[in-house]
Amino acid sequence: MKILVALKRVVDYNVRIQVKPDGSGVAVEGAKMSINPFDEIALEEALRLKEADKAEEVIVVSIGPEAAQQQLRTGLAMGADRAILVQSDEAVSPLHAARILHTLVQAEQPGLVLLGKQAIDDDSNQTGQMLAALWGRPQATFASKVALEGETATVTREVDAGLETIAVDLPAVITSDLRLNEPRFVKLPDIMKAKRKPLDIRPLEELGVTPPPACQIVRWRAPEPRQAGHKVETVDELLTALKERGVL
Ligand code: AMP
Repeated sequence: MKILVALKRVVDYNVRIQVKPDGSGVAVEGAKMSINPFDEIALEEALRLKEADKAEEVIVVSIGPEAAQQQLRTGLAMGADRAILVQSDEAVSPLHAARILHTLVQAEQPGLVLLGKQAIDDDSNQTGQMLAALWGRPQATFASKVALEGETATVTREVDAGLETIAVDLPAVITSDLRLNEPRFVKLPDIMKAKRKPLDIRPLEELGVTPPPACQIVRWRAPEPRQAGHKVETVDELLTALKERGVL
């Protein structure tokens, strides 16, 4: 069985991003870029499934600019077998990404597609669900545990009420939550080895995917800075402060 893992190139989660002064977007020039953290977790899970003999091949896929090769090479250094870059300099919406991934899924016929539950740049949390719908296959989102047995994946999901365990028929789409695993660190020899692994670059235009009507972002604005907190020494002081603010 093949496992396809979607890796999105995003601004590293440690970088404090700035909105451009004219509100036209976020200034990302020169910022450190990384694999979306949830996607790294998705890849780690795919690699563990392969190491447990539940899969033969792990393919990492990214839709993004030429520079997204860096994130795919990191994925290869973690242990993926090959990579596909669908090259596009334009940002793609979740529905567009799902349509592109669906085209690759039809070509590769994986038994499992793993994605992050959301990309930390757009926080959309849509692509996995849309891919499952386009593909006509089951989905298990927000996974904190995955077990494969035969033609079934048993997935524990993090939901508002606690943990929910569901069984889905394969092929299926699973999206990873934070507590699924801790991704491995990449070692230098693996980085060297990854340079020789296949990375297939396909221009987006060649895929023949129809872009959905674009949602236009009108303006970006940074959140209001938070006021500094107020420290109290005693419970009485706390009660007085809360009463003054009308909370009690
Ligand atoms: P989103 O729906 O945008 O929050 O993204 C959910 C997940 O879809 C991400 O965690 C990725 O696994 C995948 N994804 C979205 N956009 C891309 C992209 N441009 N390239 C690769 N994977 C993507």
